[in-house]
Amino acid sequence: MGYINSIETMGLVDGPGIRFVVFMQGCHLRCLYCHNPETWTLKGNLQMTPKELVDKIKRYKPYFEDNGGVTFSGGEPLLQPDFLIETMKLCREEGINICLDTAGYGTDKDEEVLKYTDLVLLDVKATNNVLYQKITGKDINVVNKFIDLCNKMNKKMWIRMVIVPGINDNKESILELNEYLKKINNVEKIELIPYHTFGEEKYKKLGLKYRLEGLKAMDLNKIEELSKYLIKE
Ligand code: SF4
Repeated sequence: MGYINSIETMGLVDGPGIRFVVFMQGCHLRCLYCHNPETWTLKGNLQMTPKELVDKIKRYKPYFEDNGGVTFSGGEPLLQPDFLIETMKLCREEGINICLDTAGYGTDKDEEVLKYTDLVLLDVKATNNVLYQKITGKDINVVNKFIDLCNKMNKKMWIRMVIVPGINDNKESILELNEYLKKINNVEKIELIPYHTFGEEKYKKLGLKYRLEGLKAMDLNKIEELSKYLIKE
């Protein structure tokens, strides 16, 4: 059984083409800007077997065409490895392309999960441990090991980093990101994601403190300006 938070049947932003996106429960990180705090707990309302989920995904195959497929996101999908591996195996049997949207903070079964992953969408939270700890409350070395594993397995990667006003919205952070990305092989795409405040209300409903209260959403012009410093090749 897997714990699923929600499903998006025709996603356009979590990987190439049209995608069936599965938002899974569970995350060990506590990113300052997280807009899905309802996914933090490992258990949730919606429970499914791998077969039940894949039966649903299969119905959308006609929309996937050449480059669409399924994306497992979260939360942190790596935290339900047994369910994920079984589901991925069934997707493979159906010839469905598989993306993994992850922060790279998983378990000792990551290698098995990656065997069935066609593309990794890696959320880079920070590129040094001081900032990583400030943003997530955890240690960057776990992610660095995940990156080593992706390199060893020659996985294709798309990189995303959320840009937050006053935290990493400066040229130095982007230059540091360029350096950090040198240690990741097979990077096909890099995206800077603007911080937004859409999740703030959810914290109130859950009785949690929103630590970035009062912070304005990231200016999109600034994102465009910072993108110019990215080395994309
Ligand atoms: S990794 Fe994602 S789900 Fe987990 S806390 Fe960070 S933003 Fe939220």
